[in-house]
Amino acid sequence: MSKMQNVRGTYDLYGEAKRKMKKVIATASNVVEKYGFEEIETPIFEFTEVFSRNLGDTSDIVTKEMYCFEDRGGESLTLRPEGTAGVVRSFISEGMQQNLPVKLYYAGPMFRYERPQKGRQRQFTQFGVELLGVESPQADIEVIAMAYEFIESLGLEGNVTVEINSLGDAESRAAYREKLVAYLQQHYDELSEDSKSRLERNPLRVLDSKEECDKAVVANAPLYQDSLNDSSREFFQQVLKGLDLLGIKYRVNNRLVRGLDYYSHTVFELVTDKLGAQGTVLAGGRYDGLVEQMGGGKVAGIGWACGVERLSMLLEGGVDLPRPIAVIPVGEDVSEKALEIAYRLRRAGFRVEHSYSGNLKKRMTKANKANAVKAVIFGSDELNQDMVTIKDLDSGEQKTVSLHNLIEELR
Ligand code: ATP
Ligand code: MG
Repeated sequence: MSKMQNVRGTYDLYGEAKRKMKKVIATASNVVEKYGFEEIETPIFEFTEVFSRNLGDTSDIVTKEMYCFEDRGGESLTLRPEGTAGVVRSFISEGMQQNLPVKLYYAGPMFRYERPQKGRQRQFTQFGVELLGVESPQADIEVIAMAYEFIESLGLEGNVTVEINSLGDAESRAAYREKLVAYLQQHYDELSEDSKSRLERNPLRVLDSKEECDKAVVANAPLYQDSLNDSSREFFQQVLKGLDLLGIKYRVNNRLVRGLDYYSHTVFELVTDKLGAQGTVLAGGRYDGLVEQMGGGKVAGIGWACGVERLSMLLEGGVDLPRPIAVIPVGEDVSEKALEIAYRLRRAGFRVEHSYSGNLKKRMTKANKANAVKAVIFGSDELNQDMVTIKDLDSGEQKTVSLHNLIEELR
């Protein structure tokens, strides 16, 4: 097999697909900047431990999805599989704790060794936010509101449901874990091999299994909400009340857990039924223990990340650029003048198509192909009188205008 092709699960992005991805990221950036979030770019690779020690040693990512390699200096490095661990690593190593709260967003490629399928790639793009240093449910409400506003700005709110759950604090988690283990042990023989081992190491993960046999068992598992202690219950109620206040619709999904170890209290996902099995387009939650676990102070955190490719696939229709103006010189002797006119129009803000060669007919064909809205046509006779012709390529109408008024005429 030729090695001169892309690696399985990776894609070359260009044309329409790239434009859609750009639109998703630009829309997200605009929304979150209104909420005071600032962009951060962390390295695409980190020491392996940044992920292996913090995402959970039974998580899918750590057990089977990471791209790890040893560099020439013998360090074990990993291509980032997700954004939060790197951002929190930076938060700590850059000493950002001094100035809380810290609000950061990022966009860029993530890498996971997964079975490629629609909406599941080995290199994919995430846009994510992290809000550090706010313990109150206001943070949860605001961060979910921001996710919702982003989805709405893409015109996708009709396709997407907000699902939410609470994992409670450490005490509630321990209480639930006990009940869950007791239940799962009764159904031990029905579980997948993976889940049998999860049961020992991290039983909560069984709830997140994608195997049909596990799903059947999980369907009747004890509900998380019955294990929440009073303060965790109160916290969750406040989050829901805030969402009600803002008019954000949600569905409490008691089965919702997240694949990584660091979550507590609020977890949420935005899901669609339009992408088959890969229906989660955005996911997040509160991770109050993570900063401390990574060696920083006791700093609360909450965030989310979305799959930019999955959201792009939901966008209907094209992302159209403004239609260009075609600059069409007639005769070699005016080709320099054409360069100059094109340059002027571009500097005035127009998109300009300027074909590099060809006679009038060829250039007109190219202009139509580029979906130009108007053509600016001129030969030396016209230019000698400082005139050019503007042709409307939709109606065919044309008029001759003074070169000095060209920009005003085109506006
Ligand atoms: P899934 O359950 O689909 O594997 P996940 O829980 O592993 O998702 P997260 O780690 O929460 O996903 O990542 C946040 C979002 O990033 C997902 O909701 C999804 O939209 C997107 N995403 C995750 N993995 C991939 C992938 N391999 N290819 C494309 N998008 C992905
Ligand atoms: Mg996954």
